[in-house]
Amino acid sequence: MKILVTGGAGFIGSNLIRMLIQETEHSVLNLDALTYAGNLNSLSDLARHPRYQFIQTNICDKHALDAVFADYQPNWIMHLAAESHVDRSIDGPGDFIQSNIIGTFNLLQASLQYWRSLEEGGEKVETCKSEKVKGENLNTLEPSNLPTKESFRFLHVSTDEVYGSLSPNAQGFSETTRYAPHSPYSASKAASDHLARAWGDTYGLPVLVTNCSNNYGPYQFPEKLIPVVILKCLRGEPIPVYGKGENIRDWLYVNDHADALYNVLSKGTVGETYNIGGNNERQNIDLVRLLCSILDELQPRKDGKSYAEQITFVTDRPGHDLRYAIDASKIRDELGWRPKQDHTSGFRKTVQWYLNNKAWTQQILDGSYQLERLGKNS
Ligand code: NAD
Repeated sequence: MKILVTGGAGFIGSNLIRMLIQETEHSVLNLDALTYAGNLNSLSDLARHPRYQFIQTNICDKHALDAVFADYQPNWIMHLAAESHVDRSIDGPGDFIQSNIIGTFNLLQASLQYWRSLEEGGEKVETCKSEKVKGENLNTLEPSNLPTKESFRFLHVSTDEVYGSLSPNAQGFSETTRYAPHSPYSASKAASDHLARAWGDTYGLPVLVTNCSNNYGPYQFPEKLIPVVILKCLRGEPIPVYGKGENIRDWLYVNDHADALYNVLSKGTVGETYNIGGNNERQNIDLVRLLCSILDELQPRKDGKSYAEQITFVTDRPGHDLRYAIDASKIRDELGWRPKQDHTSGFRKTVQWYLNNKAWTQQILDGSYQLERLGKNS
């Protein structure tokens, strides 16, 4: 199969593509605009792989999307491209409306047009190459399976943040939980989820939707909680914890998310939603202390003190949801998916990865972002 992955130069997308190339026979076209969060260094090991290709394209450019579909002729779409950081959505919601809502709309329209052009059972209509992708040879790979109308899939990748905030003892979010987003980020993702489902219900596009809890692991942009904590520790700087650190998140190792996405894409029922979670709830402050203790072991401070001494409580994020938790029983029972990392092994692997890959983070921190706090413009 030929899989078009949008947002493949980001955190989850790059880990997903590595899994697809290393653990399946599929070919991948990574379509990414390379915003501040997109980083081809995260995929440098695959750059010359015969089943991997990259094209720099913005999902807000419908014309360019049409050309990519016509040239590449994908069997499946995995849509991850999005603005993804809540704090940035507070400072600048416009980019989130553009990429997450308008971009998803464009991708759905391009997919629908392409899907309608596919014959029942097999043949594909002629392509219409545009100036933009001429010469890119996107379709040089021999498809082992011709794209067909029946086998086409559009997997829309979303977040548990669309469900809003849970009280401490409430059941985890299920696929039928009412949407109640609170941040510009989660509101824009909620809108994109509704669009994806509507394109399935109204036009028959074979759409599947996933809503996943907080991911962590290698190649995460250093604005997100876990890399911030690790890097602040190593720099000997205060570790900022929002509010009292009481917010609870359900943490999932990124490779387990990638595995879940592939399960949904290849085995899920069209039209269904699958919630994905790690069954690994932690208060932020407990997570920060855990990361400090792992670092105390793997790279102790020179003065012998614990990194936990650097923890500093800072003003909370406005509209900060108290708790997210996922009820992942549907994907477990119907598709047999379970996270492989246990409750602490993934955190240890992640800390070790950041220790081993300082050049990857340094290249980012040499640019426009230097670990400063974002999201104060409310
Ligand atoms: P990320 O910010 O690390 O990566 C996003 C990627 O999308 C980047 O490579 C960026 O260049 C690209 N992109 C952004 N706007 C684009 C546009 N207009 N056109 C083309 N490419 C564009 O994000 P991530 O953490 O890898 O998240 C990926 C997806 O998974 C997002 O849809 C996010 O909502 C969802 N998700 C993330 C988490 C999490 O914990 N990180 C959890 C659940 C769901």
